[in-house]
Amino acid sequence: MSGGSMAAGEYAFSAAGLGALRQLGGRRILAAFDFDGTLAPIALRPEQVITPPGTRAALDRLRDWCTTAVISGRSRDDVLRRLGVAVDYAVGNHGIDGLPGAERESAECVAVSRGWLAQLRGGETLRARDPGLLLEDKGVSLSVHYRQARDPGRAVAELPAVLAGLQPPPRIVTGKMVFNLLPPAAVDKGAAMLRLLELSRAEAGVYVGDDVTDEDVFRLHQPDLVTVRVGRDVASRAQLYLRAPSEIPRLIDALISALAASEGREALR
Ligand SMILES: [Mg+2]
Repeated sequence: MSGGSMAAGEYAFSAAGLGALRQLGGRRILAAFDFDGTLAPIALRPEQVITPPGTRAALDRLRDWCTTAVISGRSRDDVLRRLGVAVDYAVGNHGIDGLPGAERESAECVAVSRGWLAQLRGGETLRARDPGLLLEDKGVSLSVHYRQARDPGRAVAELPAVLAGLQPPPRIVTGKMVFNLLPPAAVDKGAAMLRLLELSRAEAGVYVGDDVTDEDVFRLHQPDLVTVRVGRDVASRAQLYLRAPSEIPRLIDALISALAASEGREALR
């Protein structure tokens, strides 16, 4: 994992990583997080995922220090239910669900997703190929999960062509054992993050994610945005990485320390 000459990111708790977090001190900050694989560890079935108590408590502490947000691939209601702690902004469906100011795009996405659902006959078309394929209706988008497919290899090989035949053709974003089908009007996580930075009047931000759709935020390369990937990946554009979702409370506390230090106060511990 480590030892490459050109690090594709520094470990968040290295001197360089902590230095990057300290730079956020003294400014109005937006701290935004992906949910699955970031705040909460991945489970075999998406409905089994919950936020660990230590992460919930850390997010609650963080809210005393800055604006907090969750930008998830799940529907907004679903992620709010699983989060179990208040955040200032919760945006679902990779940026489109609940993003203030994106109501027209959102309505367009719902209409397109209804059309796709009908074309896939509510998922029957997929289950006929492999009974383990799970079609998730997320209102403004659809997801096809193949974690439980009888033949996941075949699903990966064949599904993109099948799904590309939908009208209008979706933007297919691959994730961990999932194909996300996003309507043409969908906002991506990068655009959602920019909008939230603006809405919260943040002078700087931090974003933590673990997957392909989070790269839309990582590649923004905003000068005052610190990006963190959960799980090191040499191909990622994130500046820092964590080893696992279990390190999230420690990251949040390091961030609180940075924000507290600038105010000459002790971090709450
Ligand atoms: Mg994720």
